[in-house]
Amino acid sequence: MKNTFSFLLLLISATVWAQTPREQLDPKVTEVWDLKPVKVTPGTNPGEAPSDAIVLFDGKDLSKWSTLAGADAKWEVADGAFTVAKGAGDIKTKQTFGDIQLHIEWRAPSVIVGEGQGRGNSGIFLQERYELQVLDSYESVTYSNGQAGSLYKQSIPLVNACRKPGEWQTYDVIYTAPRFSENGRVIVPAYITVIHNGVIVQNHTQLTGPTEFKGLPVYQSHGKASIKLQDHGNPVSYRNIWVREL
Ligand code: MG
Repeated sequence: MKNTFSFLLLLISATVWAQTPREQLDPKVTEVWDLKPVKVTPGTNPGEAPSDAIVLFDGKDLSKWSTLAGADAKWEVADGAFTVAKGAGDIKTKQTFGDIQLHIEWRAPSVIVGEGQGRGNSGIFLQERYELQVLDSYESVTYSNGQAGSLYKQSIPLVNACRKPGEWQTYDVIYTAPRFSENGRVIVPAYITVIHNGVIVQNHTQLTGPTEFKGLPVYQSHGKASIKLQDHGNPVSYRNIWVREL
């Protein structure tokens, strides 16, 4: 009885409220005061890690990284950056992630060797599965859904924002992991936004499944996973890598 009465009262006040002309409404009713965003100190310079970031490479060592089998990462560290050591294999973060904001800087080798997919090829695999392509696409031509800024074989970048080989480039990534049901079906696909050298190249793009070299992708259920960097045999370098969990 009491519940019915409260419900009726609520219904009446909602109806009255809905009928009140907008100019007579109290603006305070729609203000939120009790929930406060956590304070974060942003970096001083563009690309600098904010106070709540997890730094994955600070220019010194690969302690946050390992081989896929879990052994020490053997890529070369020098001059505040690390470089793919051909044949040393892919490396991955020791920590696993779900939804993230990622900042990563990369450089294709200044000495131009090869063409297309063979020139400055590496890749950033979100959750070890979804590749954001790293490639020298400044002048070199390859299939469009395989150039720098593409989600490999799935989505062409909106524009080509590549710098010259040998110059440092930035990716700022906002990634939302896919959601799966208990029986392993994908409920919500992964989404990714990529800003390449300050230019948006993927705008909340839906991933259709894990990256496949051949054939079409098919989602398979997974939880949190590492960020993986690809050894494609080219001496691509990385520096200033940090992540924020969302
Ligand atoms: Mg690649």
